[in-house]
Order: sequence, then C-alpha cells, then structure tokens
Amino acid sequence: MSFEQDYVNVLEILRLAGIPLQKEERTDDDPLVVLGGICAFFNPEPLADFFDVVIVGEGEEVIGEVIATYQEHSNGSRDLLRAMSRIPGVYVPEFYDVVYHDDGTVKDRIAVETAAPVRIIKRTVKELGSTPAATAILTPNTEFSDRYLSEIARGCGRHCRFCMAGYLYLPPRNLQIDKAAEQANKADALCGRIGLVGAALSDYPDIDDLCARIEGGVSISSLRADSVSQALIDRLAKSGHKTISIAPEAGSERLRQVINKGVTEEDILRAADLIFGRGIPNLKLYFIVGLPTETQDDVAAIIALAEKVREVQLRHARPLGRIGRITLSVNSFVPKPFTPFQWEPMEAVEDLNKKQRFLEKAVRKIGNMNIIHDLPKWEYVQALLSRGDRRIGRLLKAVHEKGGDWKKAAKDLGLDLDHFVKRRRGFDEVLPWDFIDIGVRKDYLINEYQRALEGKFTPPCRVGTCKTCGVCT
Ligand code: SF4
Repeated sequence: MSFEQDYVNVLEILRLAGIPLQKEERTDDDPLVVLGGICAFFNPEPLADFFDVVIVGEGEEVIGEVIATYQEHSNGSRDLLRAMSRIPGVYVPEFYDVVYHDDGTVKDRIAVETAAPVRIIKRTVKELGSTPAATAILTPNTEFSDRYLSEIARGCGRHCRFCMAGYLYLPPRNLQIDKAAEQANKADALCGRIGLVGAALSDYPDIDDLCARIEGGVSISSLRADSVSQALIDRLAKSGHKTISIAPEAGSERLRQVINKGVTEEDILRAADLIFGRGIPNLKLYFIVGLPTETQDDVAAIIALAEKVREVQLRHARPLGRIGRITLSVNSFVPKPFTPFQWEPMEAVEDLNKKQRFLEKAVRKIGNMNIIHDLPKWEYVQALLSRGDRRIGRLLKAVHEKGGDWKKAAKDLGLDLDHFVKRRRGFDEVLPWDFIDIGVRKDYLINEYQRALEGKFTPPCRVGTCKTCGVCT
C-alpha cells in the first residue's frame, strides 16, 4: 500500500476476491492477508481490522523470513501468527488491544499475546546493491511501459520537515555506481530507456558519471533546484525531456527555512535558467499551501516566484519565437506521522480552498502558466487516514459499504473526524503510531519542530560521522 487514498480500494479488492473484509470473519481456508508498503510502516492502525500481518519496513529485508515462516506452519493457525510476530519488523494487529482516554486520545496499547513485542522495529536494508530494486515485468499495460525503472537511491538526508518519506527511509543510501551502470546496461538492452528512481536524484553523488555511461534515454521524476548540474540537464534534454519538475515547496525564503527546504530563490532561478537554456520548454513547480506559520504573504510569494521563473523562461523563449508552459502543482499540507510537524493540526478545508482560489485567480492573469491541485476535501481524508487510529477502520468499512459517502458514514458512526485531523496534539500524547520504531528519536523530532519555528537550518545527513537523529547508531 503506497497511498492512503487506496485504503477503500483495497477493501473493494478483498470483496472482489471473495475474501471477507474483516479478520474475524475469515476461516482457515481464506488466504493470509498481508499489508506491506510505506502505509504499513507509518501508521497501519486504520487498517488493523483487515490485515492478518503487517510488514513494518523495507520488504526485501524481511520477506524471506515471512515466507519461510509461512511454509513452516499451516495457514490460519494461531501458531503461524505467533511465529510471524516473533520476526523483527512483523506486526500482528490482533495481538494488541488499544485503550482510550475519555477525551478520545490513546491511553495505552496492551499486548494480549505474550509473544507480541511492545514495539515494532522497522526493518531497513543496509546495502542497496544486494538486491537492486528494478522493474520485474515490462509490459505495455503499466504507466511506465516504455522504460525500465531502477532505484539508484533510497532515503533522503535533507531533513525537509514536512516530508514523511524523508524520515521513514533514513539513512540515505545509494546504489554503487558500477551496480547502477549495470542496471543502465540492462535497460538499454531491454527497452532503450531507464527511469531513475530515488527521492532526490540530483543528490546522487555520481549522477553525472552515471548519465555519461547510459547509452539510451534517461528519465527522472523531480530534481532538487540546488543540485542540478549542467551535465544532468544536458543528458535529460538529449533524452527528449520536454518537462522537468522542481519542488520549491514554498514561495518565500522564510517559509522554506521553516520547512528546512534548503533551497534559495537564487537556486531555483539558476535551475530554471539551466533547464530553459538547454531548450527544455516546460517546467513544473511543486508547492504546498497550509504549511505551519504560513501567512497570506507566503501564499502571494508563490506567484511572485513563479513570475520570476517566467521571466527566465521568456528570456530563453523570445529568440526562438516559441514558449513552453509553467505548471504550478499546489497541494495542501497534511501533517504526517514521524515528521517534526506530526503534532500540528491541518488547516481548515475552507481556508485551503480560499488559498487555492487566490492562486488560480492570480495565475489566470499570467500567460502560458497553469495551476493544478488536489481538492482540499480529499487531502482532509488523506490526513484522517494517515493520522487516525483503529476506530477509523470502522469508518473505512462503512464508507466502502456506502459507496464512498464519507460524511454520511462518519455521521452514522458518530465519529468526530476533526479530532484526528484538526486537533493540535500535545508532545506527551500517545500517538497511534508511537509503537513503531523507525529509528528516529521522538526528542529529535520535537527539537526539529522548535528549530522550524525559529527558522533554523538543519544540515543534511553525514552518514558515518553523525548520530544526531538516532538512526545511525
Ligand atoms: S544519524 Fe545523522 S546521518 Fe544518520 S540518518 Fe540521522 S541525521 Fe542522517
């Protein structure tokens, strides 16, 4: 499971497969239902009713032990689940009860099975080269049908304070250049195009060298504005890229400091200059609204920055007599587990709608620029699913039965959804996901929250010499 929005879809998948949705309705003849992916290791609690086993961490590190254990026991037996729960990084939700305070916050989690560990420690692959992650089946029936995807970097050491993936996948790891080049050769032989996968690809230390060793086309997702090089842009232009994405995230320098983006306006304009200067006509800029401490001035700064980027675009486009498009992709901030902002409330949907309307109106006055965004009401649902506890499982089942009507389902169940989404949580509150240990210490996250409010910069990871956050112990 990679996205919260798929939670309802997975219930439909179970129904279509003829598998009872809830664990207690299943018999020994039903398959073992296993949850994996990033949603399984930041907060699986809303899905606790539907899965027998949850794999907390990076799959290739643990899947062998899970399969071996499955083969040793008969399906459906309590012994199988007991044996599973003894594997580090494997969580069996039915072995725990959750107790709540009168105000609806979590009071405690009680293990009802003696074998069940109190905390589940996330499993992390040490060395990417042992099992490089790459496309297993190339088929026209997928989104990336024309390219062989290869993960050359996992984790990001930049510590952007809103980014859950950044914290969950620490420490940053890179596929060695020779292994990455092997993947590129494979891509050349299979389909002539490699899609490089990683959180911050322009941070990959040998990116220019790797690009020089790739014969065929190269694709990437997005780049960090402060680490794009001329060589990389040249290679992407040669591969026929017509659009490049960069993520300033916030319009103002002040707010970028709050979120520890570490990218200046100068970096962004320099990256735009490299991209347009190399004849790549379109640029996509990712922004977030509703970030902690954001003011209307910060929202207006998105437009001011976009206009400056457009000036750079025009400078290159005028002599050619053709101009591409700048797309602003603006999403709402969702305070996610395991980030320094996990205690923050999400902004009201009405206020986020107003900000989106303000931006839409401003963009309409600028030529060759457009804006896209998710609807804040769905981002509210995303927040609910990422920040909820086991009670959200009942809601998911009701939404599934009611054909997607969230409001009616919540009303029928008498659930106050704002309790999960819009409430500021105390540092001493037991959070529904606290039982998972991703390695990053809670006091580190609290300190990062304070540093955010002070606009203090936290430098990137220095793996090998640093023990700051708790991961590299
Ligand atoms: S201990 Fe230091 S280097 Fe390791 S993940 Fe944490 S911040 Fe990064």
